[in-house]
Amino acid sequence: METDKLEQLRKTVVRGAQEIYNKGLVEDGEGNVSVRINKNEILTTPTSTKYSLLSPELIVHMDLEGNVLGSGKIPSTEVKMHLAVYKDRPKVKCVIHNHSSYITMLSVLRRGIPIIMEQQLIFLGGEILCSEITEAHTEEMGPNALKALGRNNAAILANHGAIICGKSVDHTVRFAVILEKLAKVYWGALQIGDPLTIPEENLEEHEKMFNGLFACYPRKMKSKKPNS
Ligand SMILES: [Zn+2]
Repeated sequence: METDKLEQLRKTVVRGAQEIYNKGLVEDGEGNVSVRINKNEILTTPTSTKYSLLSPELIVHMDLEGNVLGSGKIPSTEVKMHLAVYKDRPKVKCVIHNHSSYITMLSVLRRGIPIIMEQQLIFLGGEILCSEITEAHTEEMGPNALKALGRNNAAILANHGAIICGKSVDHTVRFAVILEKLAKVYWGALQIGDPLTIPEENLEEHEKMFNGLFACYPRKMKSKKPNS
């Protein structure tokens, strides 16, 4: 890849990371953002990211086997999850991992989010599932995250946070914002009563929109049922 395009993508990672920081979805030192360069390589934020000080040259270039290409900073051990998603889902161009507050509250309850709003179906794909518990920073993080994602663009990671993926940085930042809002709405609704889900008959049109515009699950999952 020509240097200009790589430089541009480094700036895109910085922009995505600073957007999720400015939107309050991550604290300094937490979370990570990556983008795909090509079939075998990605760019990702370095370990213990201080978001306001992030610059293109601090972004880490690596292959999908986990080898850092070039010198400089090292990635977070959590990048294993990102790599698993890129390997399994060729359409994914961006992965975000965060520990935003409301999602993390649900994660410690090991609780997903049933389909409570239409935008959940259109942008994220359906019922949000919570993964099985994984020992932090181990190889199991990847398969567990993929299992919880199913055909969706987002999943909750047990006692940890969230993983979100999309076909662009802009999509993925937007999905991360929507996911945290859904968690907040669901949490708030649970304080008042029993949240009601969207009736089954209203789901089909939204599923079509998800599949046409935002879905990035692999072709092999096409025949599987959505998370609903
Ligand atoms: Zn984490």
